[in-house]
Amino acid sequence: MAKRLEGKTIVVTGASSGIGKSTAKEFARTSPKNLKLILTARRIDALKQIAAEIKEEVGDGVKVLPVKLDVSNPADVNGFVPSLPEEFKEIDVLVNNAGLVKGVAQAPGIEPEDINVMFNTNVTGLINMTQAILPIFKKRDEGGRGDIINIGSIAGREPYSGGSIYCATKAAVRSFTDALRKELIASRIRIIEIDPGQVETEFSVVRFYGDKSKADAVYKGCEPLTGDDIAEVIVFAAGRRENVVIADTLVFPSHQA
Ligand code: NDP
Repeated sequence: MAKRLEGKTIVVTGASSGIGKSTAKEFARTSPKNLKLILTARRIDALKQIAAEIKEEVGDGVKVLPVKLDVSNPADVNGFVPSLPEEFKEIDVLVNNAGLVKGVAQAPGIEPEDINVMFNTNVTGLINMTQAILPIFKKRDEGGRGDIINIGSIAGREPYSGGSIYCATKAAVRSFTDALRKELIASRIRIIEIDPGQVETEFSVVRFYGDKSKADAVYKGCEPLTGDDIAEVIVFAAGRRENVVIADTLVFPSHQA
């Protein structure tokens, strides 16, 4: 697998914590000799810290570029590829991981601002990032080459009470991903979706507007996955032989079945 990843340039959105952070480290560990990682999120200090940790763990074989990027800001997304140093421009893999849930509320009590934030990040942000990077993939031979790995959610398949907006955003990710795969059928561009179940990250802290005690209560009495569990699946999918597409994968802890 390391050989297949060697020389690749990989973008991870939402790399400042949780699944994105684990994914960055897992790519670096799997292919430590010759890899370029572009780590994006809004918290640039956290990205710089992760870049330093990767350097300490695997050395200089992995070049890491931290980039401050808000996926919900079209100016950030449009400026992303043009702003990259030349040696990072030939992107091979985009992991569309940035996403969030805000609030637990039922209609008509859902905050309009939360609706906007979730759709602008989870859906529009993911689509805009895809559109920014696809032209790089499409100009390659055989109709194009590259991987887009979208992080959906079990919530996109099984909506739950109090989470209608988040569930709707992840269902939208699913539809977009499936349609895109069909649109690119004649190419070598792989469109992959990985849907996590319960994973212990900062996700629930964000959901409860920073209230850590409410976030901790979510995981009481169960054993959630870790970011590393999902990262291993993401890197496995990217490391397959070019003709193999791990198209659609649900990964959840055993108690959640
Ligand atoms: P975290 O809260 O730990 O990570 C979310 C990441 O997204 C952070 O790095 C955050 O960075 C980034 N992010 C949020 N908003 C934006 C934005 N507007 N622009 C750029 N980056 C943004 O949660 P997870 O690691 O758990 O979440 C990762 C993905 O996994 C999400 O898409 C989530 O929906 C999905 N998921 C999570 C599950 C779970 O149980 N944890 C279950 C199913 C799916 P920053 O704040 O620095 O911008």
